[in-house]
Amino acid sequence: VGDSADFDKEVESICPFCGVGCQVSLKVKDNKVKYVEGINGPANEGRLCVKGRFGFDYIHHDHRVTKPLIRREDAPAKGLNVDPANWQSHFREASWDEALDFAAAGMKGRGREIAGFGSAKCTNEEAYLFQKLIRQGFGHNNVDHCTRLCHASSVAALMENVGSGAVTATFNEIENADVAIAIGCNPIENHPVAATFFKQFTKRGGKLIVMDPRGQALKRFSSHMLQFRPGADVSMLNAIMHTIVEEKLYDQQYIEAYTENWEAEKAHLADFSPEAMAGICGIDAETLRDVARTFAGAKAAMIFWGMGISQHIHGTDNSRCLISLALMTGQVGRPGAGLHPLRGQNNVQGASDAGLIPMFLPDYQPVTDDGVRSAFTKVWGSADFSNERGLTVTEIMDAVHDDKIKGMYILGENPAMSDPDVEHARKALAKLDHLVVQDIFITETANYADVILPASAFAEKAGTVTNTNRQVQMGRPAVSPPGDARPDWWIEVELAKRLGLDWNYDSPADVFAEMKQNMRSLENITWDRLENENAVTYPSLSPEDPGQAIVFGDGFPRPDGRARFTPASVIPPDDVPDAEYPMILTTGRQLEHWHTGSMTRRSHVLDGLEPEANCSLHPSTLRKLGVAPGEHVTLTTKRGSISIMAREDRAVSPDMVFLPFAFVEAAANILTNPAVDPFGKIPEFKFSAVRVEATKNQ
Ligand code: SF4
Repeated sequence: VGDSADFDKEVESICPFCGVGCQVSLKVKDNKVKYVEGINGPANEGRLCVKGRFGFDYIHHDHRVTKPLIRREDAPAKGLNVDPANWQSHFREASWDEALDFAAAGMKGRGREIAGFGSAKCTNEEAYLFQKLIRQGFGHNNVDHCTRLCHASSVAALMENVGSGAVTATFNEIENADVAIAIGCNPIENHPVAATFFKQFTKRGGKLIVMDPRGQALKRFSSHMLQFRPGADVSMLNAIMHTIVEEKLYDQQYIEAYTENWEAEKAHLADFSPEAMAGICGIDAETLRDVARTFAGAKAAMIFWGMGISQHIHGTDNSRCLISLALMTGQVGRPGAGLHPLRGQNNVQGASDAGLIPMFLPDYQPVTDDGVRSAFTKVWGSADFSNERGLTVTEIMDAVHDDKIKGMYILGENPAMSDPDVEHARKALAKLDHLVVQDIFITETANYADVILPASAFAEKAGTVTNTNRQVQMGRPAVSPPGDARPDWWIEVELAKRLGLDWNYDSPADVFAEMKQNMRSLENITWDRLENENAVTYPSLSPEDPGQAIVFGDGFPRPDGRARFTPASVIPPDDVPDAEYPMILTTGRQLEHWHTGSMTRRSHVLDGLEPEANCSLHPSTLRKLGVAPGEHVTLTTKRGSISIMAREDRAVSPDMVFLPFAFVEAAANILTNPAVDPFGKIPEFKFSAVRVEATKNQ
């Protein structure tokens, strides 16, 4: 941290990493961000974690793409073989006109042969333009983004049972709660600033019930730590709800006033006594009963969850259980009460709201509804497009292998690292006859591109983003993009024009104004308000209302205003351990690294803190393998094999391996299972059968 002599301007913007959405002040000198401080945003109240404070210098990294690049005719065969510092044998520089003409010519008129992945790292306006480009330009809905890999199952369950895919209360509402559950999430590493509010809550006497197959730092602050067996979520949650029914701890008045299908839920839970479930979930019956009594006895209680809940083939059922638990105890729609899936990327909430998903137009309006499509085509001045739900992230890769999709436009996503069974995705990318990648670096995905369009980092462009709390916030440019790099919205507009679309936007503000015409969530939120106030929470009830932190206090956006109980049965994990693959692999993030590592591994502080690919194993497992901490182990699943440095970690149970997914040299997704949840279509990243051996000749 410096003083005012160290910079010549300060610009207020939003941290580009996680969905907490911390507001930052960027201190700039000579067109470089010198350092970053937290400011008083509604989510962070001045706080930042290590990524927000120190993880900004990737924007000035030598690897930035500064000119449009076109694949050379004499380039080596497509593969993961481009050195981002030395790419000249694969690509040649081009002018913007040549690159955009080339990108558009390979896509124009090809309809269903083209699909698109947009980005949760871009702004709301850029997400909106991306889905519009695919729908208007190609006539179908084959457009998706990384929500499919993180909370799609949570959104499916929330839409089904509550009628809205967003949180019912901000995480800051925990200050009004007396009990909270944090399940399948690791906020100290993954939502660090939110975790500071959780810790303060416990210091004030709040009871924090932590449930996770991995022990974790939040355990120190918990009243109850339930380290349950991986994949046993539904058994455990149904046992807790069974106790609430059996001991009549539910809120009958709330259930009668605001819900439906209670009798079916009650009957379903009869088979899940804690005594019967204890052996399955690995938590003794008395603890399950104690948790049920503690939660049901709360004056106000919140439930937080993360990808430990969603990334399963039963992810939607896991979320259904959490929704049912909140409904039966009347813990929605009051101060300190609510459901809160902690969203991952900085703008995954906003990108989903903006319609970057194959089944919904902006504001979750179904593509299957003729009236909805006609409202959009009226504003867009274009013909109707397909009424069929489009393909999801993993389905699009399958369709490439099946020769149905032959070209793709990928903006800011990195499926060559992030897809499950990633060799399948890499082969699909190599097979495409036309791949347009828009990014700030030559990512692993850009290795396969026919044309790379150099984009802007967050600190180089204007636009709004929406955090996990439903807070729409203003991002502002602090520095200019390097070389010929351009803001993503500008590139999208130029490409759309070359695809024959009549797009005339002069700024992100123009796009935001169009979004408002068909997005009720943006009522009373204007560009000028966001410029002045930095953040407005949706829904905002008047031009003066800063927005509603809590929703659904008096009914739900569902038929008759009632939320629904949807009973959840036990579906076992897809890839269960056996004699050949006897352990369980689970993947996730580390505090210092972000997703596929393209940004944080180019940040010298963050990469300095955590420079090497690693996995975590219990000390007894390491002993059995004859491996010392710091030596390498080989992890093998039915999909593939990697060798990686092993760490000793008592938080991981002896039959489990924890594997972060940010490291290309030991890519976690070489191992993961592509089986998906049938509703959210989210892959089972949290559970694969694995064999662990000492690496030979290390
Ligand atoms: Fe950025 Fe998330 Fe850290 Fe806040 S908690 S500084 S949004 S990474």
